[in-house]
Amino acid sequence: MPLTLPQLDEPREAKEKCGVVGIWGEEHPARLAFLSLYALQHRGQESAGLCTTDGRIIDRAVGMGLVSQAITQRDIERLDAHAAARATAHAGKGVRKWGGAIGHNRYSTMGPSAAANAQPLVGHYRGGPVALAHNGNLVNAVQQRKELEGKGHAFSTTSDTEVMLALMAAASRDKECDALAEALQQVSGAFSIVVLHQDRIEAARDPFGWRPLAIGKLPSGSYFVASETVALDVLGATYVRDVEPGEIVTLSDDGLSSRRFAEASPRRAHCVFEHVYFASPASLIFGQTVQTVRERLGAKLAEEAPVEADLVMPMPDSGRSAATGYARASGLPYREGIIPNRYVGRTFIKPTDAERAAAVRVKLNIVSEVVRDKRVVIVDDSVVRGTTTKIKMDQVRAAGAKEVHLRISCPPIRYPCFFGVDFADPSELIATNRSVEKIREIIGVDSLHFLSIDGMLSVAACADVAGEHFCTACYSGEYRIAIDPALRKHAMTGNC
Ligand code: SF4
Repeated sequence: MPLTLPQLDEPREAKEKCGVVGIWGEEHPARLAFLSLYALQHRGQESAGLCTTDGRIIDRAVGMGLVSQAITQRDIERLDAHAAARATAHAGKGVRKWGGAIGHNRYSTMGPSAAANAQPLVGHYRGGPVALAHNGNLVNAVQQRKELEGKGHAFSTTSDTEVMLALMAAASRDKECDALAEALQQVSGAFSIVVLHQDRIEAARDPFGWRPLAIGKLPSGSYFVASETVALDVLGATYVRDVEPGEIVTLSDDGLSSRRFAEASPRRAHCVFEHVYFASPASLIFGQTVQTVRERLGAKLAEEAPVEADLVMPMPDSGRSAATGYARASGLPYREGIIPNRYVGRTFIKPTDAERAAAVRVKLNIVSEVVRDKRVVIVDDSVVRGTTTKIKMDQVRAAGAKEVHLRISCPPIRYPCFFGVDFADPSELIATNRSVEKIREIIGVDSLHFLSIDGMLSVAACADVAGEHFCTACYSGEYRIAIDPALRKHAMTGNC
């Protein structure tokens, strides 16, 4: 009988929500989009997909799992051949015009994890076939869906993204009408999207700029958009600028052009948690390199909560950047004393407490020699449920640490996110209705400090983006836009 190791239900307690890419004017757009999706794998591991057009119809390949599992070599060759048909058709007119591809990595925050919800989604509007990929979360999708169903529109997925396609299809029949702009003016919430048409790609960002969306230029002169600049680096593209909140950019045979579907909100709502946890440390988002911000968050922690200790240790891998900053600012030595086992897979079983503890011990080994008889500062990026954090702290103490001081590089997470981040149910968040002292007692450490909101914003802010332009709703409960009471109730109760 095979031995089955008990494992955690999730390796992380906050789940990334999607990455998007779009590229136009390349001979092998599917292959390039596939490579860039690899670079955005951290934004979603549930499903992945690619679409190309031959100038008439859209071909699509989607699948469940990681990019490498969801999309095969054969898919890529088929999609690139499909795109090449457009160039061949143009070559008949004496000019070769390469086409484009869009791609998506998904983690569901609205709509279940299912192949039917894998993106890009394909639809049809008066301008022809269209494919759309979305990073974010719409807060009025349920209401829009009901209205569209009332008008006879049939939905084939449970994803909020399909609402945008349906609104494009329902847009005015007037030939002059801008169907995408008309659709985006009716949705509310977070969206960074890429849209593939027969002859172009459009990319747009909500007026608050919740999620990042960068424009790059390839050495060939083609343009490229992606959720994060780390995807540009993979293709050797140079960063041009971000898609502005409220802007639609078009990538076509004529290069790059821009128009607005809305004015940018005077007060933006960039997700500060992208800097704390989601985005790749190698990316440039909201005006700063993520790695630099994380190191400075750690330094700010050292300033806010110094402690007499012998060494600073990161919680791998999430706390490494902030721990580096804490160690540098405090002058304490930096040591790696918690070693992750990278070969333990993930399952979705719900283990018992004992099994969970065993699973953490399998996933993380403590180097006793580093911690024995030492006063240890451990730095992590966030605490969500706190259950695994407690087990890890107990492990460090059991390995002989004299004192354990936990430092977290963001404030306590107490409220749900409606803009594309799937935290645990609020009733399961350790910080909901609990003081820091109470959390310290539960986790069982000698001291605990969460970075203050002001401290976090002072680091996230830069010359280009003031602190007031960041969303902090999951920490403060201050939502930048009104949240439908039904949606709020759903988040607070965890129903359905
Ligand atoms: S609520 Fe939190 S996670 Fe959600 S967008 Fe705002 S800062 Fe980001």
